[in-house]
Parts: sequence; structure tokens; C-alpha cells
Amino acid sequence: MASVAVAAQTTCSRCHATLGGSRYELRAGEERRLHCLRCGFLYPPMVRRSLLIALLVGTVLTAINQGNLLVAGDFPAALYWKIPLTYSVPFCVATTGALLNARVRRSL
Ligand SMILES: [Zn+2]
Repeated sequence: MASVAVAAQTTCSRCHATLGGSRYELRAGEERRLHCLRCGFLYPPMVRRSLLIALLVGTVLTAINQGNLLVAGDFPAALYWKIPLTYSVPFCVATTGALLNARVRRSL
């Protein structure tokens, strides 16, 4: 029933722009809605999941890559860009993976 409603949807659920060839079916619980790419990037449940993944994976990667320096009490200036970059990688991977997985091609 819900998939029929989603298949007939021609506009973005958030900004009401006409959906082109690519649309993104994002879910929050049982609710499924189609979004344009821009609104897909801003979909709050997906952003929250990506932030949680970035927090967990970024912390592990930082511990692996910079843990010896941090435990020794050193904090070289290079860590000011390395650590945020380490956290941003899993965020980008999780977001890209979620959007690619949610992509629905128009079947006309
Ligand atoms: Zn939109």
C-alpha cells in the first residue's frame, strides 16, 4: 500500500520540487517518502545516523592513528586538521552509502 503511494509520488516530500530521474526513498520508522537529492542530504534521521557512525568510527580511527601521540600528551598542530578529517570520512561514507542505497530510478 505504501509503495504504491510512493511510486505515484512526483514531487519531493520536503520542498515539493518536481522529482527528476533520480529520487531518494528515505525512511524514518514505518514512514517512507521520496525526496530530491538536496533534501536527501538534509534528511534529519539520516544525518543523525551518519553523525553517530562518524562519532563511533572516527573515535576508533583516531585512537588507531593518533592514539600514541594523545596518550603521550603530545598534540602537534597537524592534529587540528587530521582529527576532524578522520571524523569526516565515516560521515561522508555513511551519508553517501545511505543515499545510494535509497536511490530509486523512475520506472516509466
Ligand atoms: Zn526536495
